[in-house]
Amino acid sequence: MSTDALPIPQGRHRIAGEWVSPSGGETFPTTNPATGEVLAEVARGSGEDVDRAVAAARAALAGEAWGGLGARARGRILWKIADLLEGPHLESLSRWETLDNGKPIFESRWVDLPSVAAVFRYYAGLADKIEGETLPVDGPFFTFTRHEPLGVVGAVVPWNFPLIMAAWKVAPALACGNAVVLKPAETSSLTALMLAAVAEEAGLPPGALNVVTGLGHEAGAALVAHPGVDKLTFTGSTSVGQEILRRSADTMKPVTLELGGKSANIVLPDADLDAAVKGAFNGIFYGKGEVCAAGSRLFLHRSIHDAFLDKLAERARRLRPADPQDPKCRLGAIHNAEQMDRVLGYVRSAREEGASLVAGGERVTVDGRGLFFEATVFQGVTDDMRIAREEVFGPVLSVLTFDDLDEALARANASPYGLAAGVWTRDFPTAHRAAAALRAGTVWVNTYNFYDPAAPFGGCKMSGFGRELGQKALMQYTRTKSVWMGLKS
Ligand code: NAD
Repeated sequence: MSTDALPIPQGRHRIAGEWVSPSGGETFPTTNPATGEVLAEVARGSGEDVDRAVAAARAALAGEAWGGLGARARGRILWKIADLLEGPHLESLSRWETLDNGKPIFESRWVDLPSVAAVFRYYAGLADKIEGETLPVDGPFFTFTRHEPLGVVGAVVPWNFPLIMAAWKVAPALACGNAVVLKPAETSSLTALMLAAVAEEAGLPPGALNVVTGLGHEAGAALVAHPGVDKLTFTGSTSVGQEILRRSADTMKPVTLELGGKSANIVLPDADLDAAVKGAFNGIFYGKGEVCAAGSRLFLHRSIHDAFLDKLAERARRLRPADPQDPKCRLGAIHNAEQMDRVLGYVRSAREEGASLVAGGERVTVDGRGLFFEATVFQGVTDDMRIAREEVFGPVLSVLTFDDLDEALARANASPYGLAAGVWTRDFPTAHRAAAALRAGTVWVNTYNFYDPAAPFGGCKMSGFGRELGQKALMQYTRTKSVWMGLKS
């Protein structure tokens, strides 16, 4: 693949191994947030397009090439996908991920793509380890369980990590023998389409992975409502997650929801403070803060507050937005204009509610253009301020002060969200107590923002339910069937 020209046709879906024009003939542009330039036209999917993709997925399940394929052969295809992602397609996919999302090429090339490949490898290894059990029931029976694929999985993903979010769903779903219809976010569809082509190049039969692009309330809603979809897996905002959960009741689809967050990162006075400064910094500014698990509420113990904040703010001031294609860039472009408005609105509200700005706070341009925002830190934030309660989804940190651990834990847990949390301490009992007490799907101790295919990820409360990654995710993509064999003739 060339890294310059878009290596796929514009304005098409990928259905049944073919580039398919949208039934309504309509497309819309996707732009580079760092420059405002149009990158490509994207197909505006309709209910008819979703019908076609679901039919292709069902045909793949019914056919020998995918439905009849053994587990080990499925695993080999997933492994080969990872080879291609890390090999011939690495540069092109990284580049287009950065062009379409605005994230630094450093992140796409050295974090996102390697981690996408790792997810495919992890599930490649699990494909032939999805085992049933024999059950010690009473009576003359031989009773066992089968873990069967669910059928067609409808996957809807957001724009912040287009490939990673897709991989977290596609890889385990395929490992379990399902077929997938993937609906990427309207503003970051290109690499999802490229992924489907790469998967087919690796030997995935046509129809096993289909990508329908389009708007959430059109293509997305059609996928959610479709009676031929057996399972929905969604990552995105809490409000859309709620809507999907409501709609899924009509066809009784099981749903996995990975939603928003307002994660607390608590620094105790006995912590390695330099490590904690670095962790707090990466916890909010990695990925421009457009990260569901961003450590956006930093709780500093009063005794270390001033010294800690000086160091953190100094680092934040040095982190300048830059051209995402520059390998040295560590703060890319805000993904789209709507997101920029959201960030600006929260910064305004923080000022109005009395928080003090210690770094950043302004929208800027790079080379006179683009959607960029400075790395921003507010101190003097209180729990009742909007900036402490609501998800900003941008490079904006709220710093709060606390006096003792129990108070910090209670305030951390007072959020309606429960996706992730962090705690920094050298004291083991304290670390264990905090890890147990924090109501979140992930707790990082003396680290932040680390992910691995082996570690389940997901939320509680308004951050959703169900787990992605790890062996736990296999449960989201299989149905347990109990089989009773009567042994008395
Ligand atoms: P979003 O909810 O607006 O959109 C997500 C996806 O849902 C897009 O593909 C969109 O087209 C689709 N969609 C929108 N309306 C729909 C509808 N009615 N029916 C079906 N599909 C619909 O979210 P976003 O702005 O793309 O992403 C940002 C949000 O995602 C943040 O809140 C963030 O916290 C969350 N997020 C969560 C995780 C996690 O793992 N918990 C990871 C990444 C992002």
